[in-house]
Amino acid sequence: PAVLGVMGGGQLGRMFAHAAQAMGYQVAVLEPSQVSPAGQVAERLISRAYTDPEGLAELAQTCVAITTEFENVPADSMAWLGERTFVAPAASCVSIAQDRILEKRFFVECAPTSGVMPAPHKTIASHADIDAIADDLLPGILKTVRMGYDGKGQVRVRTREDVRAAFDAMKGVTCLLEKMLPLAYEVSVLTARGHDGASVVYPIAENVHRDGILFTTTVPGPNVSDACAKQAQDAARAIVAQLGYVGVLCIEFFVLQDGTLVVNEMAPRPHNSGHYTIDACVTSQFAQQVRAMARLPLGDVRQHSPAVMLNILGDVWFEGDSETPREPAWDRVLALPGANLHLYGKDDPRRARKMGHITFVAPTLEEAQASLREACAILGIPQ
Ligand code: ATP
Ligand code: MG
Ligand code: MG
Repeated sequence: PAVLGVMGGGQLGRMFAHAAQAMGYQVAVLEPSQVSPAGQVAERLISRAYTDPEGLAELAQTCVAITTEFENVPADSMAWLGERTFVAPAASCVSIAQDRILEKRFFVECAPTSGVMPAPHKTIASHADIDAIADDLLPGILKTVRMGYDGKGQVRVRTREDVRAAFDAMKGVTCLLEKMLPLAYEVSVLTARGHDGASVVYPIAENVHRDGILFTTTVPGPNVSDACAKQAQDAARAIVAQLGYVGVLCIEFFVLQDGTLVVNEMAPRPHNSGHYTIDACVTSQFAQQVRAMARLPLGDVRQHSPAVMLNILGDVWFEGDSETPREPAWDRVLALPGANLHLYGKDDPRRARKMGHITFVAPTLEEAQASLREACAILGIPQ
């Protein structure tokens, strides 16, 4: 069978491998760790650094197409692979999404066709930049330009003194200051674009974060109006087209209290907020990634059931302050109507670590939400 390659061995790579294998492909994973969620299920694990020339050469020789599940994969490695085999998304797209300054600049360039702007922002690379911060950018959030995820590398700041302290604490790495916006709620739009330029847009998802980490995704979103959904989906279509992107891409948006839609960031890969598509859509985001990279027709994005996705963090393995993990009561969770449990094969639960997710599907959203509430009660997750 043909082999599809993936850079990164995390849970996104694991679910990608499941989808690829279901369609008859074998999967090769390039991942430095010997043991990883995707490495466990792939036919071939290349256990080398993402920049290792021999590892990259082996991946390029083995695979008919290569993708990434890891946003911060070195773009140079993707570019090198792209000269030897089909790589989707392209290194040029990944490098924009990896860098908050390039990403914001790109969103501003897209605004004439997308109709949405990012939050007001300013690059902070020196103390002089801090002195020059306009009053109306504060209070804000100082974010590292590279490598941030799950709210890591972010500090909320009220004054220029706060910015200076936070910037110094980040040891002088270049940051982006974003104005703190009055959010009503958050949404994301998952898209896929084929090598032929055909694109699809999934139903809009409403996301709730807790401590900077995605907590739940609900589709259809209880707060999302038809007009907001259309505006976000049209914006997403314009952004992927302008990017010339191939593969699955997720774009996060804020909806402000006055209804304004603001584009936040994009992930050049399947996304946590798109996990509901596995159980609730005709074509999952991972099957869609397989189709896009294998240059097959894109699949139907229709959602056949209302869905709520609950992220499962390592916290649910620990009762109270106990430091000894114990297996959660999956038997009780799986007795709930419409429950689909996905665990990522990580055998060392830690608090705040993504271990799996549960998607509840039901004939009505209310029934799916009722199962979610019961699951939270069983697992000791505060609501
Ligand atoms: P991810 O895990 O989604 O990649 P991240 O670490 O890249 O997260 P962001 O998505 O930029 O970070 O921010 C994390 C969360 O912080 C957002 O989902 C939102 O709740 C909040 N946030 C970020 N920027 C702003 C802003 N300008 N105004 C208000 N809230 C914000
Ligand atoms: Mg991010
Ligand atoms: Mg985000």
